[in-house]
Amino acid sequence: MGKAGVKGLSLAKRLYTSRILGLSLGLLCVCVAMYPLNPAPWVWGGMLFNGLLWPHLAYQWARRSKAPYHAEHRNLLVDAFLGGFWVAAMQFNPLPSATTISMMAMNNVAIGGLRFLLAGSVAQIMGVGVGFLMFRLAFIPETSQLQLYACLPLMCLYPLALGWLCFRQAHALGRQKRELLALSRTDSLTGLLNHGAWKDQLEVEFQRCQRQQQGGAIALIDIDHFKAINDTYGHVAGDIVLRQLSKVLKQNLRATDIAGRYGGDEFCVILPDLPLASAAAAMDALRARFATLGYEQSPALTVSLSIGLAAFSLAHTDATLWLNDADQALYAAKTTGRNRVICCGSQNEVLDSV
Ligand code: GH3
Ligand code: MG
Repeated sequence: MGKAGVKGLSLAKRLYTSRILGLSLGLLCVCVAMYPLNPAPWVWGGMLFNGLLWPHLAYQWARRSKAPYHAEHRNLLVDAFLGGFWVAAMQFNPLPSATTISMMAMNNVAIGGLRFLLAGSVAQIMGVGVGFLMFRLAFIPETSQLQLYACLPLMCLYPLALGWLCFRQAHALGRQKRELLALSRTDSLTGLLNHGAWKDQLEVEFQRCQRQQQGGAIALIDIDHFKAINDTYGHVAGDIVLRQLSKVLKQNLRATDIAGRYGGDEFCVILPDLPLASAAAAMDALRARFATLGYEQSPALTVSLSIGLAAFSLAHTDATLWLNDADQALYAAKTTGRNRVICCGSQNEVLDSV
């Protein structure tokens, strides 16, 4: 079954409960309004059918249909048509008629918006028209006390039930929205922030550093000869190396550091409020730890990292200049032999590496 089918089935299930409640309470309201009119047996039969059997029939009909969503829309139009029919049969007794019409309008607008409200109203008018032709044309101007009480359960309980269903929907949607937002910011392979989300964080950190006129450092980390690792050990092994690096980053950084996957085999870290020398020491420790890791599936595999570091400087007029500095340092690390940490501005290695 396609997406529309699944959506239709869940709509049918939701409506099954609300239809059982709405129509059984509606039956009470209509029966008490009809009783003084001495209806024919077939009319009683019709009322019982609509109030007690129709909800189950409608559900089975939608469930077995190839397109449950459309079937359920058709069922809602049948609801509206029958509602209109009973309004005419009750000879427009004001309170039961207004209750029937307004509860259905509430239902239709909640499910299908203004368009469906309009379609439901047309079906209701058609129902009124048919009822008009079948019953004596008359108008009852007053609702008795008993009829008023018979309408109260529907008036009080049905909006409560529908409100509850709508709240649950909105709550589930809110949760899904939060989950989707988190997914859209996460790199699926490593679980770190993805490129866009990390850049957003960099912008925030940059603004903060500018306000405080001082700041920490950023690091760009690139795996050495990663293409060769893929070529020699396969892409699955390559993915394991990427995940291993993200694990080492998560385990070895401070809670305030922000790591992301810049793209491919390149990772990025914001190290707030850390002097460049300390940042370099931290990154070199990370490089050394990563270089000693073994891989179960490929025992011969050892992987090294090249890391470029750049401290925040007042000369940076925007975050990309800061990032450029780290990129240049990374380039220097690559061109001077890899497996090392280089800080921007010093072409010498900050710490011994090999
Ligand atoms: P260098 O030492 O200069 O960094 O060389 P390199 O081979 O690491 O760099 P290069 O940019 O040539 O290769 C990066 C490779 O990373 C190429 C690409 O196929 C691979 N890659 C990118 N994303 C993924 C991924 O998600 N999984 C795997 N297994 N490989 C990836
Ligand atoms: Mg690389």
